[in-house]
Amino acid sequence: MSGLNLAQQEAVNYLHGPCLVLAGAGSGKTRVITHKVARLIAAGLEAKRIAAITFTNKAAAEMRERAKQLVGKGASEVMICTFHALGVRMLRQDGAALGLKPQFSILDSDDVTSILKDAGGSTDAATARQWQWAISLWKNMGLNAAQAEAQAADDNERITARIMARYEERLIAYQGVDFDDLIGLPLKLLQQHADVREKWQAQLGHVLVDEYQDTNATQYELLKLLVGERARFTAVGDDDQSIYGWRGATLDNLKKLPLDFPQLKVIKLEQNYRSTSAILRAANNVIGPNPKLFPKTLFSELGEGEPVRIVDADNEAHEAERVVARIQSIRENGQGKDWKDFSVLYRANHMAKVFEQAFRKAQIPYKVSGGQSFFDRAEIKDLCAWLRLIVNNDDDPAFLRAVTAPKRGIGHQTLTSLGVFAGQYKLSLFGALFSPSLASAISSRSVGGLHEFGRYINDLEFRARHTQGAEDARTFLVDWLKDIDYEKHLYEGEDSEKLAAARWTNVMEFIDWMAQRCGGQIDDAGGVTMASSKKSLMEVAQTISLLSTINEREQEQNVVTLSTLHAAKGLEWPHVMLVGVNEGLLPFKLDDDGGAKGQANEGILQRLQEERRLMYVGITRAQRSLAVSWTRKRKKGRDTIAAQPSRFIAEMSLEKATTKEDPREKLKALRAEFARKAQESAAAAGGA
Ligand code: ATP
Ligand code: MG
Repeated sequence: MSGLNLAQQEAVNYLHGPCLVLAGAGSGKTRVITHKVARLIAAGLEAKRIAAITFTNKAAAEMRERAKQLVGKGASEVMICTFHALGVRMLRQDGAALGLKPQFSILDSDDVTSILKDAGGSTDAATARQWQWAISLWKNMGLNAAQAEAQAADDNERITARIMARYEERLIAYQGVDFDDLIGLPLKLLQQHADVREKWQAQLGHVLVDEYQDTNATQYELLKLLVGERARFTAVGDDDQSIYGWRGATLDNLKKLPLDFPQLKVIKLEQNYRSTSAILRAANNVIGPNPKLFPKTLFSELGEGEPVRIVDADNEAHEAERVVARIQSIRENGQGKDWKDFSVLYRANHMAKVFEQAFRKAQIPYKVSGGQSFFDRAEIKDLCAWLRLIVNNDDDPAFLRAVTAPKRGIGHQTLTSLGVFAGQYKLSLFGALFSPSLASAISSRSVGGLHEFGRYINDLEFRARHTQGAEDARTFLVDWLKDIDYEKHLYEGEDSEKLAAARWTNVMEFIDWMAQRCGGQIDDAGGVTMASSKKSLMEVAQTISLLSTINEREQEQNVVTLSTLHAAKGLEWPHVMLVGVNEGLLPFKLDDDGGAKGQANEGILQRLQEERRLMYVGITRAQRSLAVSWTRKRKKGRDTIAAQPSRFIAEMSLEKATTKEDPREKLKALRAEFARKAQESAAAAGGA
């Protein structure tokens, strides 16, 4: 119980019923979860009967690390993972009850876009993405296509709902699930199959959920069915940090909890252990104007600390220079010595670029988190498509990618004919390959090419099943890439040799990473287990689509973090710089809400409140120093426009406003002062 205050101890010791810890930023909510995992184990609950659910894979990795420090090896069996990873585990074990094969594929966002293009008969990716967005929100609300159509507000929604129906048919045919299904299908499983429900309820002795404010409706339903009547769970959250409303998260989950569980024990934490008083005051002032769902007070005993700085800059490049100067000066003053003590946070991914350039120039090591992930790279997607197809032959999106990467003389026309043929006979593309009547639809030369590909996949599949451990896996992967001549494919596809070489390096890194996973040397970032035993290549390949980071060791690098505000949730750094704090960026542009006028206003108000919470999240990441910067001009598309500081800067109501640190600013101010004086004296002379 060391390192916990009384309220935290109460939450940790409350083992036999539902518990909600509701508290502001930095008050030790996540710490409650890790300590409670340890407490449950100490109280005799088997580690494997505990599930701790985090918001990201990265957060899961961090929590696993901390749990290991607290309980040692015993922690390794705790299921510390995201809702999605838990969903995968449930579906792999019990999805058969829903007609899902254990080797189903997880489709990524690009796969979904192209399936939707096909299902909706459109070649336009933007349109397909709009459908994707709408369908995802419906799924998060727990609606299927028929229900979505029934509640459609207009023709547009009705059409989208019908496309959703066709989309769902395709997913079933491909034995594929999208990200939302990883929550929706396990829920359906528990709702419709009492035996499976009872099994999971008996299996899980306690469920803990971090960042509860950002769960969506289906996640809440899933949680309820997982814990059952005994309701042994601990949720921790902060309504002021709810920042995923745009993706379907709902604060209703917080409101409903005391109603659905009348015996709920609610614990509030009031002491903030992260930030100085100056920082905390700015945070409290910003969140002030938002309506209070649950009133909270937060105090810090870490002292007043450095005042929060407001920094203004001419434009983005100048802003980046000033950030570099600030980092250098803090390091020179000895207030922060490690690069990893610093982070630069912004509203949108594209804003990172100018800071990356400035950091490279100043030789400051950095990493961009929440940006394009390793698994979004074309070459890695190619390899993953092959592995997915090996695992699940019915995965048509993977088939289409693998058969053309590298190109093997099977053209678009052949693939289209194959698709039509497969559709007629209700077969997957792979399933159609060896159909005796295929020859009637496709020229025999093309059939030959397809057969060759199919036989090769079968061969790989056989070998992958019998590949166990790191060394075997490495040999398998290297041989395979040689077989398909993938390196040559990269060099032919890329104009610059340097780029091709970089891609090939990524491929090598991927092989290493796969091999290590097969050897059990690194934890499963899918978060499913961290038992370190050898795995077959097949097993590792099955979890692949769920991963978003190449490896968690990255975290230990001593580098400055560049991150979006959303990806910074739950984290902390000694020195934080919030950049681009301009109207139109933070709050993000609020003026393009569709719908009827009254509705639009309501929508804008809610979005403004969510943006304000985002600012609150940003401020509360800082431990010792915080700088908030804005630019007088900013790029918008190709134009440069005049820009205003964010209203949130005024809302922080800092006592002492702007501090001028930049010599250029001083010079400018002096010049302005001279000009004003000159004008005054001229005016005085004229008046005389
Ligand atoms: P957020 O709302 O940002 O997710 P949180 O409420 O989860 O924050 P934690 O990350 O658990 O807060 O804790 C914030 C910091 O305070 C961490 O560095 C943690 O180690 C420290 N901390 C938490 N509780 C205590 C305590 N009782 N004594 C000392 N330090 C603590
Ligand atoms: Mg936390």
